[in-house]
Amino acid sequence: MALASESFDTIVIGSGFGGVMAAYPLVMAGERVLMLERGDWVERGPHNWEINSAHELSDHYCPDTAYAVDDARRKRQGGSFHCVGGPSVFYGGVALRLREQDFDPGPAIVTDSGAEWPFGYDELAPFYDWAETLLGVAGDDRDDPTAPARDAPYPQAPARFTPPAQRVADAARRLGLKPFPLPLAINYAPSDDRAACTLCCTCDGFACAIGAKNDLATGLIPMLQAAGMALRANTVAVQLSVEHGRVSGVQCVDRRSGASTTLRAGRVVLAAGTLATPHLLLASGLDRSSPAASAIGRYLTRHNNLLTLGVFARPTNPGRDFHKQVAIHDFYFGAPGVDPSIGKLGCIQQITAPGPDFVRRILPAPIGHIAAIGVPHVLALLSIAEDQPVASNFVSIDQANRDELGPPTLRIRHRYTRRDVAAGRALVQQSRRILREAGALFSMMHDLRSFSHAVGTVRMGQDEATSPLDDRGRFRGLDNLYVADGSALPTSGGVNPSLTIAANALRIGTLLTGRAAPRAMGRQQLPVLERSAHAP
Ligand SMILES: Cc1cc2nc3c(=O)[nH]c(=O)nc-3n(C[C@H](O)[C@H](O)[C@H](O)COP(=O)(O)OP(=O)(O)OC[C@H]3O[C@@H](n4cnc5c(N)ncnc54)[C@H](O)[C@@H]3O)c2cc1C
Repeated sequence: MALASESFDTIVIGSGFGGVMAAYPLVMAGERVLMLERGDWVERGPHNWEINSAHELSDHYCPDTAYAVDDARRKRQGGSFHCVGGPSVFYGGVALRLREQDFDPGPAIVTDSGAEWPFGYDELAPFYDWAETLLGVAGDDRDDPTAPARDAPYPQAPARFTPPAQRVADAARRLGLKPFPLPLAINYAPSDDRAACTLCCTCDGFACAIGAKNDLATGLIPMLQAAGMALRANTVAVQLSVEHGRVSGVQCVDRRSGASTTLRAGRVVLAAGTLATPHLLLASGLDRSSPAASAIGRYLTRHNNLLTLGVFARPTNPGRDFHKQVAIHDFYFGAPGVDPSIGKLGCIQQITAPGPDFVRRILPAPIGHIAAIGVPHVLALLSIAEDQPVASNFVSIDQANRDELGPPTLRIRHRYTRRDVAAGRALVQQSRRILREAGALFSMMHDLRSFSHAVGTVRMGQDEATSPLDDRGRFRGLDNLYVADGSALPTSGGVNPSLTIAANALRIGTLLTGRAAPRAMGRQQLPVLERSAHAP
């Protein structure tokens, strides 16, 4: 690793939303930035749309992170996506802002956790504009009954609803609801250097074979590299060393060769994700430097994500059209007949049901074959319910067990609270109603027990005794360590997390440069790097 002798202003650990967006203002300001990424580049080609390259069957889904998950149902091993661009390469592209009220979530969500946002929506709004511009989000929120204020319209118009999406939107409208297009970071405009989306059914859970999804590896990372950022893929940060109240070195291991080296920079931005960031902090003993030591790893939220599968008499999508297009926010702040003391609920979105091949592969033989026959008759809605940040949901390290690269393994302990379960069920009840109106014969609920929406393990806040990060994302107790990923968010809100992680990271990076926020400039004036033809 020749990089050990080079000098950098900032080392960014992780190439997901937090890392890339924090790096962006730093690179624009001319800083020498080195980004370390545990995973490799995802090669693009027709194979991306094959089932063996998707979801947890992909080579980039790594069980070798060895998360031991204890989540009430059973104890199991978890894994996660590790690749250049992080899970954005495989994500669904949904790019929603938190609502204004989410920055002051209220006692039903906060309870005694001490969670508090150190700033309000207005502080993040210009960075939401910027993140939407960089991610090329296509949306139109005029019918969203909960839409937060915005200075600029979306950069792109959404695609027209395909027939399966129109069917759900029509049913929702007949029930007096206000469905609107789900904002998506997908490219719909063909150009010389970008393919436009073909509205195929292989999006969420798949890397885009033609690069029409605006994931970080398709657009932003190559731009940052062309502007001078160094990226080291297949490199795992395993230890942060501290001297005189500062991080003095990042010990890394090259996953392929096993070679170990220590890299140094003026500051370190940690953005390894909501599980890996506290893992690295705890494995490095940095909780000992923090006035909020007991909060590190705690207050893990992950949304109560529930699928409602409506089963129809006829195949619902014979054209194999993309249809993750409809959002329904009418129940974000509550639903008729639901105890208001539950507080905010969250959102409902259409989602592509897993295809027959995938179902056949992941379920045991007889069940998989039977379920695969039924899958073409399904339309699915995803409920995303906000969950409470409670101290008893946490990650910790297991000193008795080490992973293959040396650090102690990570343990995750998570149980939904009664309120979280009730919030999820309330949204499922509404999803069932919508699917019934769309013609479903019956519906089934399936809970998604993943940590794909995890946030909150190293939260920001004003109180230094309970919040490891200050309002600028600085790790309290160390001068030059910042955290810019999902772990920094004090609460989850009721929408998908990536756009908020991106906006907050752009904010943290901008504050580090000492430059002014791009306040109310309008989209045309927002700072963007030139797109380059750089290929990894
Ligand atoms: C299948 C799927 C679909 C999703 N769809 C959506 C969606 O439609 N909309 C939405 O808003 N959100 C979606 N999400 C969630 C979203 O992807 C995450 O919220 C987001 O990626 C988190 O960003 P982050 O910066 O916190 O961490 P990540 O994006 O996870 O980035 C962390 C990076 O750090 C790397 N890393 C970890 N440990 C180390 C280490 N020790 N050294 C070096 N590198 C390390 C990881 O490999 C990863 O690349 C989806 C997630 C999944 C899995």
